[in-house]
Amino acid sequence: MYGRQISESDIAKDILKDSRLKKFAAITHKGSVFYCARCGSKINIKENQLPKNNYYCCVCIQMGRMDTLKNLVTVSEPNDFVKEICPLSWKGTLTSLQLRCSKDIVETFKERRIHLLWAVTGAGKTEMLFKGI
Ligand SMILES: [Zn+2]
Repeated sequence: MYGRQISESDIAKDILKDSRLKKFAAITHKGSVFYCARCGSKINIKENQLPKNNYYCCVCIQMGRMDTLKNLVTVSEPNDFVKEICPLSWKGTLTSLQLRCSKDIVETFKERRIHLLWAVTGAGKTEMLFKGI
């Protein structure tokens, strides 16, 4: 459920007590311009007005009506992933022919020349580029 914005009315009352939940208005406004917090659409207040100066979003209504009377709730993603120090490193080894191509690629890059590396699928063309990149 991390990162999702769910209508407060769709959540069981005991879950609403969870301190990790953040509650906010489904329709917000900046000055006289109203926006739907769920889909970000600007609301035409003349066409999408409800009684007592309330408004709804017609853009995302197929997912349930969001209006100025409702709140959304969300739980922030904790982002507690293991961070790799060098995520884009390759630990494989090249064959002698691949290594020769890789050295050619490095020289080509240094000299800013155009070079065609042509080989069958699975020959390791990408891996041969790594040192040059
Ligand atoms: Zn909307």
